Amino acid sequence: MNAVDITVNQKRITEEIQKLYRRGEPLNISAVKDRHPHLIAAVYKIKPFWGWKQALESAGLDYSMIKKHLRKHVACRICGIKMRVLMSHIQKKHQMSLDHYKKQYPGAEVISPSSSSGVGQPRRRMEIPHWEKNWTPEYVLDRVYAMKARGIPINGAYMNDNDNTTYNMCCRYFKRLTVVYKALGFDSQTVAGKRENGWWTRQAVMRRLRERCDTGQGLSYRAIVRSEGGLIVAARKHFGSYDAAMRSVGLNPDKYRIFKRRNHPYPTQSSVIDEICRRKFVGLTLSYSGVVRGENRDKSLVMRGRKLFETWDKALIAAGVVSADDLKK
Ligand SMILES: [Zn+2]
Repeated sequence: MNAVDITVNQKRITEEIQKLYRRGEPLNISAVKDRHPHLIAAVYKIKPFWGWKQALESAGLDYSMIKKHLRKHVACRICGIKMRVLMSHIQKKHQMSLDHYKKQYPGAEVISPSSSSGVGQPRRRMEIPHWEKNWTPEYVLDRVYAMKARGIPINGAYMNDNDNTTYNMCCRYFKRLTVVYKALGFDSQTVAGKRENGWWTRQAVMRRLRERCDTGQGLSYRAIVRSEGGLIVAARKHFGSYDAAMRSVGLNPDKYRIFKRRNHPYPTQSSVIDEICRRKFVGLTLSYSGVVRGENRDKSLVMRGRKLFETWDKALIAAGVVSADDLKK
């Protein structure tokens, strides 16, 4: 596929999305997969990776504008019965294990989109908030892509620790992270922070830790997980924990620990800017009154923004989400 084809395809897709939007059709991934599967398939065929979120944006839409619909039932591929979840039905009625069913019917759902919508929306920490209501393989790709675009590490160790639900969904739908990277067009070696030559043996871990120490590179967990996620995974595998690996080369882990400030969610100007950009990214309001009183309010963000940037408007300008000219209007 050459560059010209891509533009033509993307334009055609964008127009189709706009048409559906004008018709008032729901445009979340699950709904479009049900009604217009060719459209979702076409979007995910585009290389370099495009994804549904970016396709919507190209059509001038974001998640706050679109209608969402989640199908309440899923049909059994064997007998056609429609239920919210099929797990026990498959096992009891057809005496078939779930694994066997999935093998027999590749890609078959066993849980309806609406039933899966609660999954993974807990109070657990996520690097970026949800925008789809339920999980789909396509949404997983969009999320990992968006994380990378925001400079968030997407190696296994980091994702497992900091956005566990996304990590688990990667494994559920794609088995291995390398499959996800490939689908997104990322180089596994680069994003996974793997060693260039060979594997992380016990000795290699120890050597690398000493090397980082000698060359003054960060040795905190946070410093390493951002640049060399594979090192953390290997340290845990060979030594049980990262701390134990450090002790094995005579380093005192306590000396290198970085404690996050937990007393304020937005300790610095950059953390305020990050959060403003994140809200913009997921389509949450940034108006003063909206952030103070709206449905998705975050009063501490406004207070902190005013304190660190004088005014809320100046914080928005610093974050680059509005220009000074915009505010004069
Ligand atoms: Zn059945």
